[in-house]
Amino acid sequence: MAKVVKFGGSSLASAEQFKKVGDIIKADSERRYVVPSAPGKRSPRDTKVTDMLYKLHGSVSDKRSFEETLADIKARYDEIIKGLGLNLDLSDEFKKIAKDLKAGADSDYAASRGEYLNGRIMAAYLGYEFIDPADCIIFDRKTENYDAEKTYKNLSKKLAKIERAVIPGFYGAYADGTVKTFSRGGSDITGSIVARAIHADVYENWTDVSGFLIADPRIIKNPAKIETITYRELRELAYMGAGVLHEDAIFPVRQEGIPINIRNTNDPKDDGTWIVETTSKKSKYVITGIAGKKGFCAVNVDKDMMNSEIGFGRRVLQAFEENEISFEHLPSGIDTMTVFVHQDEFRDKEQSVVSAIRRMTEPDTIDIESDLALIAVVGRGMKSTRGTAGRIFSALAHAHVNVKMIDQGSSEINIIIGVANSDFETAIKAIYDIFVETKL
Ligand code: ASP
Repeated sequence: MAKVVKFGGSSLASAEQFKKVGDIIKADSERRYVVPSAPGKRSPRDTKVTDMLYKLHGSVSDKRSFEETLADIKARYDEIIKGLGLNLDLSDEFKKIAKDLKAGADSDYAASRGEYLNGRIMAAYLGYEFIDPADCIIFDRKTENYDAEKTYKNLSKKLAKIERAVIPGFYGAYADGTVKTFSRGGSDITGSIVARAIHADVYENWTDVSGFLIADPRIIKNPAKIETITYRELRELAYMGAGVLHEDAIFPVRQEGIPINIRNTNDPKDDGTWIVETTSKKSKYVITGIAGKKGFCAVNVDKDMMNSEIGFGRRVLQAFEENEISFEHLPSGIDTMTVFVHQDEFRDKEQSVVSAIRRMTEPDTIDIESDLALIAVVGRGMKSTRGTAGRIFSALAHAHVNVKMIDQGSSEINIIIGVANSDFETAIKAIYDIFVETKL
């Protein structure tokens, strides 16, 4: 049995946090492969080491003095080393970083040092072997993404011989050894890749929250926690902005059917949230979660007998494609079709899109409605529960929210509702209350 455990930046921001992490790892001998992030914020006003490293790189490339920032970064690590009582000196590592940056190393290299150095400390602290992902996680120049085949082969081969190891998150390298990072928050992806490579039983992702919440705590006070969520449900919620985990971290483990367990370093007794491929466990409520985003525009195109005009829909969408705008939702009626787009992408191009639709489809009318929000109500339980949509809409009606659009995904695990931006919070509260507060 083997577990891969990834710890986020706030779990490793100080010696005190490192000690909690050490205790968590030692409490379970199956926690054999550890993926650390760079030290995060110690308090809300603090700066993440990764951000300091990007700043460092900026100073070097603008030929400004960078020594002070470098010394500040070193101080962050020295404080951790001292607090842990380790006999470790990173001076040579810092000399090498300064030399590499002066020689023109890029911002990916600079940022990756956050995880690299934290990995060195973690390996020394736990007495685990250190594996540099630059030697195993291989990026492809063309796709700028990791090469799955080479990466899994390298990692499986290497880790098969190592009982316990620390593999820093966030980066790998091109075949020529040039360091390349994932996008921000990418240590989650590293953890998932390592879990897949060793066929882990579980991928534990330790953060500073006890898992996913049913709704955004900025809108709902103390929302209930999601105990188990399927990958599909998570995709739907993540797309609408619910985030604890990097979106791309799902794919590697999902392909192997490895569950992800989101846990809280500051509350290790809490079982957190389980993300699984499929489950017989019913969620406590009919819905699993609610998420949403503001800032959409709806472009309504009307034309009598549109439904019998072959190619009409394609031509409408072509107008968006030609202007390089992706659409989000596409509810349609017999004589009308609506295209939902992101307002900030659309604004500058709206006239060009409207004239393209006119030219290509000769509609009766086109009108645009802006400042809309979309809310996704997601739940595997909705499939087998009658009346869910009815309850959502009566709750919204009671809260005086005008529903502008309804779209039920064909998978029946989500219902998307369009409302005015100004009704967004009220709508989420009404839906949350009807399903969670009334415990139905
Ligand atoms: N340290 C990187 C970041 O701040 C990667 C990570 O923490 O996952 O984005």
